[in-house]
Amino acid sequence: MPDLESAGPSADVSPQRLTGWGRTRHATTTVAEPSDERDVATSLATMRSARGIIPFGAGRSYGDVALNDGGATLIATDLDAMAPVDEDGCLVCGPGVTFRQVLEKELHRGWIMPVSPGTAFATVGGAIANDVHGKNHDRAGSFGDHVRWIRLALPDGRIVRTSPVEDPDLFDATIGGLGLTGIIVEAAIGLKRVASSHVTLREDRAGDIEALMDGLRRGRETSSYTVAWIDAVARGKSLGRGILQAAEPADGPLEPAPPLRARRLPFDLPALALNPLSIGAFNQLYFRRVPAAGRDSRVPLTTFLYPLDALLDWNRMYGRRGFYQFQCVIPEAQADLGIRQLLEAIAADGSGSFLAVLKTLGRSGRGHLSFPMPGFTLALDFPARNRTPDLMSRLERLTLDHGGRIYLAKDACLSPGGFDRMYPRLGEFRRVLDRIDPERRMASDLSRRLQIRAR
Ligand SMILES: Cc1cc2nc3c(=O)[nH]c(=O)nc-3n(C[C@H](O)[C@H](O)[C@H](O)COP(=O)(O)OP(=O)(O)OC[C@H]3O[C@@H](n4cnc5c(N)ncnc54)[C@H](O)[C@@H]3O)c2cc1C
Repeated sequence: MPDLESAGPSADVSPQRLTGWGRTRHATTTVAEPSDERDVATSLATMRSARGIIPFGAGRSYGDVALNDGGATLIATDLDAMAPVDEDGCLVCGPGVTFRQVLEKELHRGWIMPVSPGTAFATVGGAIANDVHGKNHDRAGSFGDHVRWIRLALPDGRIVRTSPVEDPDLFDATIGGLGLTGIIVEAAIGLKRVASSHVTLREDRAGDIEALMDGLRRGRETSSYTVAWIDAVARGKSLGRGILQAAEPADGPLEPAPPLRARRLPFDLPALALNPLSIGAFNQLYFRRVPAAGRDSRVPLTTFLYPLDALLDWNRMYGRRGFYQFQCVIPEAQADLGIRQLLEAIAADGSGSFLAVLKTLGRSGRGHLSFPMPGFTLALDFPARNRTPDLMSRLERLTLDHGGRIYLAKDACLSPGGFDRMYPRLGEFRRVLDRIDPERRMASDLSRRLQIRAR
């Protein structure tokens, strides 16, 4: 049961139900929605729950990283002040500012976020706390590489500033820190200059996994953005066939971000709508969408970066039981074998997935728990069934066998032992938490599941 006894003045004492994007994990929690940093300090001082407190952004993480069942949650979306971008491209803003808001305000002036996840609904706070990566990771690194400083409300309510030169250990714990170092109340981000609001896009079919990975390896050398969609149902000689996309910023003009003309899915699809047959048919059609000779086009940057944002609550497509996402990275030296074995295990299981993506990652992130490392990252969705957690365990073992790691922003199933082995800087992270949060006030369902504060 949620602890409601000591909810503070800015807290909503009626418990709310919050859900991860995959809709397999839920939390009933007391909630505060501060609108400035004084409110944040008040909430931290007054929301004293035995189950701790965690910040929550736009709720675009798939599992339980932003959930705190039976505890307290600080929703940061109203902390969305945004100062004008200076001539150096530095954006100072609240953590609740979304990628969409930055596009609407800055794209026509020639500034974009240097790194962006596949949804513009994510917030700056969420992007820092998961150290998110985009389709340009080889060139641009992850989001944390562009954060100049952070103002952070520590668990005891004190607000401190941290940066690569101001308490760098705290900075490295907060980049990719899963909300466990405190509440980000303001951050400075270095934006990227663009000459156009469009990209030129080259799309090519690849008939199997070797061709797809070769295409991505070539693309990372020559293109600003690269990504591949994989037909995760194909087997045998076609295992890993897919479509390669490589994009470059186009020449002018600069136009405002097109208005969001997203549609809503009016209801949860029945669970049976997504079955191996319908997913197989979708994958066939999707593969043939691009002609055998490939094609070139010029598309708005927003269409290229955020294809899924056109359907607002697409997560309802998986029905009421929701879905799991699996995303791992396999280091370069193991990638050919590792990705092939993962795809074989998925195809053999017959669970099917129609949102399967393969990307390359460049360097490691600076955060203690940053996900990226040089290699290939594979991401797939699976409709939730009774046996899906078993498949996730098999994929966890394969990831470990190849020296890889699972992305916590997407995760709902990783074991504490697997987590320990995948994140070798966990000890450094724990030391910072012991220093700034000796009372263990910050906590989430994920931090308990993975025993992040266990010892
Ligand atoms: C369609 C789609 C595509 C995606 N594509 C990508 C991708 O390409 N690359 C990628 O890396 N990720 C991707 N993601 C994952 C997504 O970018 C991350 O989960 C991101 O963290 C979500 O941000 P959010 O604002 O929704 O935060 P939430 O999901 O609400 O929270 C995420 C984390 O941020 C913490 N947090 C939130 N606000 C604060 C704050 N003020 N201070 C401290 N911590 C805070 C929370 O405690 C939690 O740990 C995708 C997600 C979707 C739905």
